Amino acid sequence: MHEMSYAVRIADIALRAANANPPGSASADNRPAGGLNPKDGSSENRILAVHVSCGEMLAIVPSLLETAFRECVKGTIAENAVLIVKTIPVRIRCASCGREIDPHGPEGYVARCPDCGSAALRIEHGREFLVDKIETQE
Ligand SMILES: [Zn+2]
Repeated sequence: MHEMSYAVRIADIALRAANANPPGSASADNRPAGGLNPKDGSSENRILAVHVSCGEMLAIVPSLLETAFRECVKGTIAENAVLIVKTIPVRIRCASCGREIDPHGPEGYVARCPDCGSAALRIEHGREFLVDKIETQE
């Protein structure tokens, strides 16, 4: 289940981002404890949702990613966060003439460019793995 390695990365990115951007304005803190880490033990900055984009070529199964993510965030501020997975479809571009090829289109997966016959086809999209957005409680 390679989803786990991605889930670990998502959890890591989300938790770091949430801690780096505490909610509310820093000046309106009602009672600073005098410590340098006022966020310690705080549950104010809970993560509500994490949006990720996974390239189709990574062959990530969203339901497995979600399950793995749940394991990773147990007991953290992201414990109840919803994981929203968007799949980025594969796009191939011919390096010779620049033509874009949609492998899901009528041409399907091709070994050569339908226009110029070049075999120099590059995968432009479909390998991405991105954390797009992290929603935290206001
Ligand atoms: Zn071409």
